[in-house]
Amino acid sequence: MTISNRTENELQLRILATSDLHATIRGFDYCAEQPLPGRGLEGAAALIGKLRREVQNSLLVDNGDFLQGNPLADLFADPTPGQVHPVIAAMNGLGYDAASLGNHEFNYGLPALRHALAGAGFPTVCANIAMLGTEPPVASPHVILVRTLLSPSGRMQRLRIGLFGLLPPQVLTWDRRNLEGRIAMIDMVEAARASIAALRAQGADLVIALCHSGIGAAEAPPGSENMAGQVAALEGLDAIVAGHSHDVFPRSPDPHDHAVPMVLPGCFGSHVGVIDLRLHQAEDGRWRSLGRASALRVSDHVGFRRLRNSPDAQVVRRASAAAHRATRLAVRHPVGRTEVPLTTHLAALPGNAALAIIAESQAAHVAAALQGTALAQVPLLSAAAPFKFGGRGGASHYTNVAPGPVAIRHVADLYIHPNRIAAVLVTGAELKAWLEKSAEFFLQVKPGLDGQPLLNPDIHASDFDVVHGIDYQIDLSAPHGRRIVGPSHGGRPIDPEQPFVVATNSYRAEGGGDFPGAQPANKVFEDRILVQDVLRGHIERLGVIRAPRHFPFAFTAMPGTSVLFETARSVRAELPWRSDLALEDLGDGAEGLVQLRFRL
Ligand code: MN
Ligand code: MG
Repeated sequence: MTISNRTENELQLRILATSDLHATIRGFDYCAEQPLPGRGLEGAAALIGKLRREVQNSLLVDNGDFLQGNPLADLFADPTPGQVHPVIAAMNGLGYDAASLGNHEFNYGLPALRHALAGAGFPTVCANIAMLGTEPPVASPHVILVRTLLSPSGRMQRLRIGLFGLLPPQVLTWDRRNLEGRIAMIDMVEAARASIAALRAQGADLVIALCHSGIGAAEAPPGSENMAGQVAALEGLDAIVAGHSHDVFPRSPDPHDHAVPMVLPGCFGSHVGVIDLRLHQAEDGRWRSLGRASALRVSDHVGFRRLRNSPDAQVVRRASAAAHRATRLAVRHPVGRTEVPLTTHLAALPGNAALAIIAESQAAHVAAALQGTALAQVPLLSAAAPFKFGGRGGASHYTNVAPGPVAIRHVADLYIHPNRIAAVLVTGAELKAWLEKSAEFFLQVKPGLDGQPLLNPDIHASDFDVVHGIDYQIDLSAPHGRRIVGPSHGGRPIDPEQPFVVATNSYRAEGGGDFPGAQPANKVFEDRILVQDVLRGHIERLGVIRAPRHFPFAFTAMPGTSVLFETARSVRAELPWRSDLALEDLGDGAEGLVQLRFRL
């Protein structure tokens, strides 16, 4: 038998992908109580509908981190039987074909995750998790979707499409309390090899990786966090969706620089990844992807706002209407007042009131818990870092609480991660090394030069811990590892042998970010209570938040030296409160940002 018509042995399949939605189904910021332009599954849905209608055959997948990340996710974290999680309801409505798990899916624990996924009308995959003991599975390693595709001439063809999921094995550290003794993690490349082989053995015509991991380096060792580039290089793979890093790839259409087509579709519904596969039926009857003939696109939906009322956007809005209303109501609940702005605009500089109130609440909780124990005699410190600090989230991704009433939405804005309260016992030497690692947040500057960049683009702000309860200087002219000058406690230099209890969060105490001294072996306290709830209770008892009276760190003075950094333009309302910093407004930068000069 020969196939005469060329179009008879060719098929086209479009893969549409979202990643890192973080429960952003509505383009709405519940903390700021305002629209979030260019974000949200509702806007992406309009684009998904348009991209689907352009082709005969398509598949819609999500690449993980869809169930956590905003107050709506916190409110509906653990649906009761029969209740469908609002994010799942929206995904069901849009007809997702499959989803893979991201690391944040584990933030609320395995039972909550099972309850949420129970409502999913699509399979969820994760190949590099092994359940331990009697722990029931949360997802299948891989799945084969049998789909009937239409050829250009209208002939129907059944295809077996294999999908598997991957996520960073570091989740075991980041969510140890939820996962220890319940799951084991497998290296992503190793698990990918096994899934590709298994899917091929089960007769998959196509194999697609849903890899909740950044692209990473070709030479990254096994077990690394960002491995999508290495997975993409594996034999037997036809397409890969990457994620986790919240990045966008490719940045321009059709680069043809990967053997296997790959997309990384941003975050919060900012982008829809598009992979167009051309499939060819060989003489043996098997279908294969003509990999290099594929088109890659990452479509930004900002230009599609006029499609807001498309049927697809309406599906998402209807599915989330009740949850959206309930969340808006819940976050308005009053907690207290603040006399000063609580923001992360200037969290890189000394005297940040937002970090101070978080640190104060953590210390108060740990002090009360340790009362009457031997550890109550050990000096208690508290570490806090800015979580919302621009970056890929842009100018809208800063904590911004104005002076006045503080409601739940402001507490959520101050502390966005579902971390629990914890404390570690460290030595003075470990504490200094902890501070040195935090100080890598800043670039090295040359004394006597004006206008040098301040922030190190390679370090995430959530790894800039400011430790409250001691005094120290950061010398920006010194190289990394030698910048912490004169650390002291109660006016006395810190002895390398001296013990300290550091109040922090579960992520850090479990080794997240790999800080010296912050590791499970040093953990002396943990509680099931979220830091967000600790903070809320603290503000309720306090009634009024005032400006911090004491700043833990200062930069070493360097006459004639200045540094530049960008922050959101909303900082301008705050500048009058921080005249102590003598910041100079150099005018607007890109996309809602402003450039500021700070003299050292
Ligand atoms: Mn994510
Ligand atoms: Mg992630």
